Amino acid sequence: MEKKPTSSSSIFERLRLMKKCPFCEYNYEAKKVVVLEEYEESRLVHVTCSDCNSSILHIMLVTQVGLNTMGIITDLSAEEVKRLRYSSGITEDILLDFHKFLYNSNNSFSKLILDYI
Ligand SMILES: [Zn+2]
Repeated sequence: MEKKPTSSSSIFERLRLMKKCPFCEYNYEAKKVVVLEEYEESRLVHVTCSDCNSSILHIMLVTQVGLNTMGIITDLSAEEVKRLRYSSGITEDILLDFHKFLYNSNNSFSKLILDYI
C-alpha cells in the first residue's frame, strides 16, 4: 500500500496526534483533522483516514501528572460529534414516543421484531 506523504506534519505535531491510521497505516491528511474543542493544552479532535475512511476521536487532557491521550474509534462524523456532544440526550418523551411506535399494531417494524421473537 502506498504511503502518501502528509501535506503538513505541523498540525500533527502541534496537536500531538498520531500521523498514521492504526487500521491501514495510511498517513493522515491535515485536511481531515477537525479540532472540535481546544482549551489550553486539552482538546477533542476528530480525524478521518482518507484511505479506509475510519474515524478516531482523540481526547487529550493535561493533568497534574502529565498528558493523557485516548483514541476512540467512531462511526460518527465530526459534525455529528459536535451536534451530539451538547444534545440533551434521550428524554422520557422520546422514549415514550418510541415505545408507542414499537407497539403500534400497524407498524411493520413491530411485526418484524415480534415475528423474530
Ligand atoms: Zn485507514
